[in-house]
Amino acid sequence: MTAPTRAKLADGRDLLFFALPGHRPAPVEDRRPLPARDPDQARLRFDRATGQWVIIAALRQDRTYKPPAEQCPLCPGPTGLTSEVPAPDYDVVVFENRFPSLSGVGAPAPAPADAGFVSAPARGRCEVICFSADHTGSFAELDPGHARLVVDAWRHRTADLMSTPGIEQVFCFENRGEEIGVTLTHPHGQIYGYPYLTPRTAAMLGQAREHRMRHGGNLFADLLAHEVADGGRIVARTEAFTAFVPFAARWPVEVHIYPNRFVHNLIELAEDELDGLARIYLDVLGRFDRMYPAAVGPLPYISALHQFADTEAQADGYFHIELMSIRRSATKLKYLAASESAMDAFISDVTPEDVARRLRDLGL
Ligand SMILES: [Zn+2]
Repeated sequence: MTAPTRAKLADGRDLLFFALPGHRPAPVEDRRPLPARDPDQARLRFDRATGQWVIIAALRQDRTYKPPAEQCPLCPGPTGLTSEVPAPDYDVVVFENRFPSLSGVGAPAPAPADAGFVSAPARGRCEVICFSADHTGSFAELDPGHARLVVDAWRHRTADLMSTPGIEQVFCFENRGEEIGVTLTHPHGQIYGYPYLTPRTAAMLGQAREHRMRHGGNLFADLLAHEVADGGRIVARTEAFTAFVPFAARWPVEVHIYPNRFVHNLIELAEDELDGLARIYLDVLGRFDRMYPAAVGPLPYISALHQFADTEAQADGYFHIELMSIRRSATKLKYLAASESAMDAFISDVTPEDVARRLRDLGL
């Protein structure tokens, strides 16, 4: 893959252009009078009751909220005065979030030793990735070559951030749909570099360690093998990837995409597998968008890339993508209420097998 074209925004933030073959990015100077960045605008606070870090980023209250389309900060800005992407056009861009929850380079968050209140600088990275310059498009509408370019950009950022001191976990994700609180409709995702392992990742690695001690072998590889042998929840399967609704799905729509061989992260996937990932990802998103008539609107979803470092602590981590939606019917959304929000105890009103059958039938 060719190296991205690098530029700087007016306040010093990094901006990277990833281009399709034959395209040459042409960034212009960012001439906006942006205020200087405050590296200490957010703090980590440790919640002793649960053993989890919480990011307190009060400045984010002032961030851009649902601007009109002509003021979209993610559309190309050829004048250098209107946009986070000062350029006449682009294919895929990544830039540092102007309102980051995590920023600056530092050490990983310390394991709290003292009793009492513990806080730490919120070091790490928050990036925005624009999937396309087309304001009204969506990931599902990208052609396979363009989707592959997004995968390449995710991969580049993963390698870069995983080797940044102080970053313990790299998380590429997309929130799509106003129903789940998206404030900018331009097709985009985000990339976080956390200074600690997130609770869900830590729980998965704990389960995997336990599985290896009790049964030998890799938990996720065994889960995948069980899903393939059962077959009832498989949505799509290709040479290199399998998409399925998990046995214990928590969301009204939930699909996991696993590579058919064990890798920790995108960096370890081969060229043909990266193409295969772009294809099956588009396939699953296409099925999502065909679940409901156009009048209902596109399916709101969260897409989460679970990636792991090739280290002893994360050795059993198996790269996969988890997609989930809160839409449970044409007229109803699932809200996380007391059982889910207060107790993290999920209750689903649909069977994973029914959802899988429905998604299987929506294939082209
Ligand atoms: Zn836009």
